[in-house]
Amino acid sequence: MRFSRKIIFILSLGVVGFFGCKTSEKSKKNLALVSSEKDWDTGSRPNILFILCDDLGYADVGFNGSKDITTPNLDMLANNGTICTSAYMAHPFCGPSRASLMTGRYAHKFGSQFNLPTEGDESKGIDVSETFISKLLQQSGYYTGIVGKWHLGHQKQFHPNQRGYDDFYGFLGGGHNYFPEQFKPTYLREKANGKNFIWEYLRPLEHNGKEVDEIEYVTDGLSREAVRFISEASNKKDKPFFLYLSYNAPHTPLEAKEEDLKLFSHIHDIKRRTYAAMVYAVDRGVKRIVEKLKETNQFDNTLIIFSSDNGGKLAAGASNYPLKEGKGSAYEGGFRVPTFMHWPNVVPSGRAYDYPISSLDYYPTFAGLANAKIPVEKQLDGKDIWKPFLKNENPIREEPLFIMRHRKGFSDVAIRQDKWKALKVYQQKWKLYDIEKDIEENRDLSSQNPDILADLIKRGSQWSETHVEPRWFHIEKEGEQWRADEMPNFEATFRLD
Ligand code: CA
Repeated sequence: MRFSRKIIFILSLGVVGFFGCKTSEKSKKNLALVSSEKDWDTGSRPNILFILCDDLGYADVGFNGSKDITTPNLDMLANNGTICTSAYMAHPFCGPSRASLMTGRYAHKFGSQFNLPTEGDESKGIDVSETFISKLLQQSGYYTGIVGKWHLGHQKQFHPNQRGYDDFYGFLGGGHNYFPEQFKPTYLREKANGKNFIWEYLRPLEHNGKEVDEIEYVTDGLSREAVRFISEASNKKDKPFFLYLSYNAPHTPLEAKEEDLKLFSHIHDIKRRTYAAMVYAVDRGVKRIVEKLKETNQFDNTLIIFSSDNGGKLAAGASNYPLKEGKGSAYEGGFRVPTFMHWPNVVPSGRAYDYPISSLDYYPTFAGLANAKIPVEKQLDGKDIWKPFLKNENPIREEPLFIMRHRKGFSDVAIRQDKWKALKVYQQKWKLYDIEKDIEENRDLSSQNPDILADLIKRGSQWSETHVEPRWFHIEKEGEQWRADEMPNFEATFRLD
């Protein structure tokens, strides 16, 4: 295929990736090489459809082995594409994970380590000096849209329409209730009562800054709007599209339609049953989206990526089997997520890709596919994985993948390099796992491999030097605690004892 061959050729000339300041000169050279050698027809660039679920567990889709939750439409795409078995997000909970996804950088490097404040303070957002992937693609001639959850700032300067999205339908907060017949009257009642702060989960959805009257179950409403966007995009003949479809499902509140619940009556646990029905509603929506892509003759030129912003929340009915723990954890269950890529005749079908990839890689990878010029000053932490991904090779990294989640008075850390994973949680001693052989993290190999562990810890410590102070805390008390505990206290975290 002409297009894919050209892409492989260009990418083979230089990897568009940054690994912090130390190697930026080398990366800039690579960038310059890509820019000067590019010669392909920009009209053949792919559409990119990024479907992100919220708190979806590793084992909660058919293509990753779920026995009780059926996802036939996602499975069809996954099985006709490539399933990424070791796909990681850059943080184990929502806000920092999404901030990393949009910027291609660890959220700790620009002060977004915590979820945005609640309690009425909606003044904060991701630093406007950070160029989002959407902005880059928009500037490169893509028609860009986001449908669903934002969670990166409420103020105008942080709004999706200011961050590179031509079209936004959804809600700005960290989640939303699902039934309009429930959230609309509650919102109106609170408004009539003069309540000056109404919970974001209850507020009206919006379309490009204007309130809309959503009448469908929210997951269905978001699928409908994705279909609308894809339809509109098909009329823009000179522009490929980038759609970030950011479902809030199956994030709490656990609310599902009766018709979907009936399909899962065999699940006795009511939480699990409701959660299953919510996942199924996403799957129903994906069917409509695929149909629209085919109907508008865009299916064959669309890269579809499906993933989740962090691991499943066990207390909300999710399963991350065989991974340990879940959302919020530095164990694999916290941030290894169900993921596939699909693109007919380009992405290999019926294959599993087992090498680790990170959500930080999407920025440079999408930029490469879009032939977008990344500004030389833009810092990135991931790498363009497209070529090794297609060839089923390891995307060799100069730097390990890191996870750091701050808790009260200490931090949990995971450091993965190839088959090794160093882990420190709950102020316990550092441990070392061969994560390829021991995905359940049961066999600590630190005493047999002290040098490997020491090296990974050293890399983690060096990485932590690039962090800046949090620019906000989720709740005020969290900030008080942070200061009282003299956090982040990296010395204690990276001490080998
Ligand atoms: Ca989440």
